[in-house]
Formats: sequence, structure tokens, C-alpha cells
Amino acid sequence: MKIAVEVKDAGAIGIGGHIRPDGDCVGACMALYLYLKKIYPEKRVELFLESPSEVFGCIKGIDQIRTQITDEEGDFDVFIALDTAKERLGAAEALFDRAGKTINIDHHVSNMGSGMVNYIDTQASSTSELIFDVIEESEIDEEIAKAIYIGIVHDTGVFRYSNTSSKTMQIAAKLLNFGFDHSDIVEKTFYEKTYVQNLLLGRALMESIFVMDGKCIVSAIGKRTLEFYQASPKDLEGVVSQLNQTKGAECTIFMYQTAAQEYKVSLRSKGKVDVARVAQVFEGGGHVRAAGCTMNGTFYDVVNNLTLHIEKQLKLAE
Ligand code: AMP
Ligand code: MN
Ligand code: MN
Repeated sequence: MKIAVEVKDAGAIGIGGHIRPDGDCVGACMALYLYLKKIYPEKRVELFLESPSEVFGCIKGIDQIRTQITDEEGDFDVFIALDTAKERLGAAEALFDRAGKTINIDHHVSNMGSGMVNYIDTQASSTSELIFDVIEESEIDEEIAKAIYIGIVHDTGVFRYSNTSSKTMQIAAKLLNFGFDHSDIVEKTFYEKTYVQNLLLGRALMESIFVMDGKCIVSAIGKRTLEFYQASPKDLEGVVSQLNQTKGAECTIFMYQTAAQEYKVSLRSKGKVDVARVAQVFEGGGHVRAAGCTMNGTFYDVVNNLTLHIEKQLKLAE
């Protein structure tokens, strides 16, 4: 797919990414936004996304993101969904549904392709890596390169996870030639934590428990804890991967409370358990080693429901 060709007849192009956007989602959306603005300055290009974490302030044009949709929006000739199927676009799903043509670019195994045109590659490290494929290399500039790099860095855990391929590295190498301060970007957008973020991480680690004979580690952050620290879910980024580094644990369940009987659940696996399949039972999705869903009930209900499916998979694998 060449995105320039797919949108050439469109006057108005909309772009959207998933709710609670992560680094890959922000990087892919910004890279595509900057690219389309650059090659088609005469077209109306709009990017709809929930407000990203402040750490992405280093990406050019991040202030152009539209976090609200107005009644006067009108219809888009083309709407492009990135890093998700249309169901997790949030408010922008309505714009996607009304668009003349829809395009979906993603790397989630749970995505069956929700656009009229789909570019889904589950082998890709990130949607940002796929953006590199669909844009003209000759049009990439330092700012576009930086956005793609940030996206790849975040979804690969800084080139650490098994989704990192030689192609990922080759693309990253090409991007580095644009000369941005890659070391500073990785430090400031990925590793650096606020004091409160570290306190929350500490609590999640302290209060974690082993279930399933130590095969699964579980932790949760309640609504009142988040309120006490005046923190938001964005402040919990990285907690689940730290938990998953625990020796002996095949998989990790981390959740934070969103309402009285509601939790946003993050699942991680070291490979034996396909957590995307577990998440899909509860209408979530993701990848084999990283997935998520939203669940109702108490903390114990959530753990019991999830471990039932995790145990089934581990038994079959024995
Ligand atoms: P998270 O645990 O939120 O970091 O998500 C891990 C992976 O699963 C990411 O690739 C997410 O995009 C994906 N994911 C999380 N929640 C959902 C959901 N409700 N539906 C589909 N995919 C999800
Ligand atoms: Mn994502
Ligand atoms: Mn992604």
C-alpha cells in the first residue's frame, strides 16, 4: 500500500488512533499526519486523538491534535484508523463510519481489518513501522523520522521485545540518519518517570501476589490510590512490564480500577500463554505477549475469570 495513492482524490482526510494512546499510536498518527500535510498542503488533514502524555511534546505538531469532535465537523472523504480496529477509535469512530473511504493500518492479531482498505501486518513491531512502509522514503524529514522512531521504540520496549525484527532495526538505522537526538528521546519519552509514577510503580510491586502456583503475577491499583496521588492511568505506563520481569512468572495481570466494579486490564506473557486469546474472551485484544481488555466485577472476579483461561492454555501446552 502507498498511502499517497490511496488518498490522492480526497479533499478532507481524517486520522485517528486508539483510546488511551500509547507511544506507537502517537508516533504513527503524528508521522502520518506530518507526511500528509507535507505532500498535500492543499488538502484538509485532521488528527483526532485523546490527549497524549506530555512526554510526547517533543514531536512537531503535537499541539495540532484534535481532542474534541464538534458538530460542524462535516464528513471526511477518507478516514484512516491507526494501531487499532475502528471499535477503539473512541469518539472518532463516528467520523470513520461516515467517511467515504476507510483505511485501517495496524499490527494487532485481533484486528480482522475494519476498513475498506486494510494494511494489517501482525509481524510488524509497531504500527509506526508500517507507516514507514506506506509513505515515500524520499519525503521523510527529521520530524517524521523522529515520530516513527518514538513509535517503534515504545512498542518494542526499546528494541527488546520479540517483535523486534531485523527489518525493525534496518528501519531504525535509516531513521537515525536524520540526526535527531535518539538517546535523549528514549530517555525522556520512555525511561524517565515522575516521582509519583515511581511511587505508584513501587506500590504495584509491593502489593503484587503470585497466583497459579507462581506461574502468574497479579497486581492492581485502585481508584482511591490514583486519586490520593492525583494521578491518571497514564502514570501507570511501564508498571505491567516491570511486573512481567519477575522470575518464574509465565504471565502477568495488572489492572487499574476505572469504576466501582470495573477494571482496565493489561496482560503480558513470556510466550507460553497467548494473552491476546485470553483478552479476546473479554472483548479485548492485542498481541500474543501483550494484550488488554476492560472487565467488570471485583478484583477477585477479574483474577478468577482470567486465570481460568490462562490455566486452560497452560494445561494444553503441557
Ligand atoms: P496495554 O496493556 O493497554 O498496554 O495493551 C497491550 C496491547 O493490547 C496493546 O497493543 C493494546 O493496543 C492492546 N489492547 C489493550 N486493550 C485492548 C482492547 N480492549 N482491545 C484490543 N486491544 C487492546
Ligand atoms: Mn497501541
Ligand atoms: Mn502498536
